[in-house]
Amino acid sequence: MAKVDIAMPKDSLNFPKADILVIDDTPENLNLLSAMLTEQGYKVRSVTKGSTGLRGANAVPPDLILLDVNMPEMNGYEVCQHLKASDRTREIPVIFISALGDVLDKVKAFTVGGVDYITKPFQLEEVLARIENHLTIWKLQRQLQAQNERLQQEISERAKAEEKFAKVFRSSPNPIAIATVSEARFIDVNPSFLKMSGYCLEEVIGDTARELNLGKNTVAIAQPIQLLPETGSLYNLEFEFSTKSGELKTILVSLELIDLGGVPCALLIANDITERKRLENEFISLVSHELRTPLTSTMGALDLLSSGQLGTLNEQGQKVLSIATTNTERLIRLVNDILDLERMKSGKIFTRKAKCNAADLLITATEAMQAMADKLQVRLIINPVAVELWADPDRLLQTLTNLLSNAIKFSEPGDTVWISATLSESRGVESKENQPSSSNFLLITIQDEGRGIPEDKLQIIFERFQQVDASDSRNKGGTGLGLAICRDIIQQHDGKIWVQSILGKGSTFYLLLPLADSQ
Ligand code: ADP
Repeated sequence: MAKVDIAMPKDSLNFPKADILVIDDTPENLNLLSAMLTEQGYKVRSVTKGSTGLRGANAVPPDLILLDVNMPEMNGYEVCQHLKASDRTREIPVIFISALGDVLDKVKAFTVGGVDYITKPFQLEEVLARIENHLTIWKLQRQLQAQNERLQQEISERAKAEEKFAKVFRSSPNPIAIATVSEARFIDVNPSFLKMSGYCLEEVIGDTARELNLGKNTVAIAQPIQLLPETGSLYNLEFEFSTKSGELKTILVSLELIDLGGVPCALLIANDITERKRLENEFISLVSHELRTPLTSTMGALDLLSSGQLGTLNEQGQKVLSIATTNTERLIRLVNDILDLERMKSGKIFTRKAKCNAADLLITATEAMQAMADKLQVRLIINPVAVELWADPDRLLQTLTNLLSNAIKFSEPGDTVWISATLSESRGVESKENQPSSSNFLLITIQDEGRGIPEDKLQIIFERFQQVDASDSRNKGGTGLGLAICRDIIQQHDGKIWVQSILGKGSTFYLLLPLADSQ
């Protein structure tokens, strides 16, 4: 048989050639259709009886059925009715075949579920075109159906998730708020949030943390919200929260980016740690006070021993004494740092501010650290600026020596540490935190070539007892409190402190302080 060359639409050829069942009682028709369709790449099954066709369709449902109208026993309409009555075969497109001269009841053909009809003798091009069309339609229908099912499933899953979220939101003991990322405006808060804040829902919705005066530093919460698309989720940011009645609370806030009907929003989950903090501080300061007196007397005893007034120790004894002295010194440092921090937090330490020269401070701090730098073979380079600061010189010296001491102890022998000062237009300085807008600032940088600090630790090392490596306090003699003290001191000077670092390359700590004439 000659190959029939038919131009078929490209789309309809995309799927693997279909499985077609031909039911016709005339063997010539069957052979002709079968040969023609096989030639075109279709898989063809042919049967001469309606009942056999039904069994075949049921066993392995084909993609399309060509069905003769006039057949003995069971005619085409009846076969079609059976096909449409079964779930397994209902969707299969049926094209009726009728011989010229046969009476084809077209209305009936469509009523019983046929999608089309072709008449004998066959116009091969027409037959193929109709088959292709219906296969394409069927394929699209199946795709649509599958898509619909997927969508329905997604909708129901989403509805379930939303219901769950709504339940958690309403009943959570944690204060939760949702705010827009663009302006950090509250669009919903849960009952726990209302309870903690003392506000009612109407007062909160539509306002920002600043408009509600939810704390001294509302930028500290607005900024992370607005930067959320860049930073991704943030966890446990400590924030001083002010209630409607002015009561101050310490809360930890975690932020998640969520999408509410196409609007990027921040989900804020808070944890009120005020009471925990108070108890923690009370406990720490109590223990520290209790430890200080026996520690001072132990140190005195050790000093007496090492002075030799009580007799000479052998080499082993000297070694043990030196270990005891180092550890006692560390403990005293820790206790003093804790008490310092506690007094600063509770406002018991007053900064005594006066005009002081920045260059003098830098030089004094460097001289104080020179011995440590020499011991660890680290070079100190100073680059001061002679400007007047309005500051408490003792507290600033404490900050500078602490930062220099860190820079030196986290450096390798042969490395250099630079301490420099420049006058700064604050806006030109790169910092993640918000900075005062005036331009009369001194920017002090302490830069080292040491081991650096991992990016995820850059913020938290300013918190109490936070160290990059748990072994730092043992190996480097620190307490994990130095930077927390530095931050408090700098905040009391209306300045800012932050750090930039590249792991393995070094760190730079920045101090931004207002000049005396800007006060
Ligand atoms: P510590 O007494 O442990 O030095 P700090 O609060 O001063 O406490 O510093 C906290 C931690 O920050 C340090 O233990 C160290 O892990 C890290 N750190 C501080 N400064 C530097 C630095 N210049 N280079 C590398 N890591 C540093």
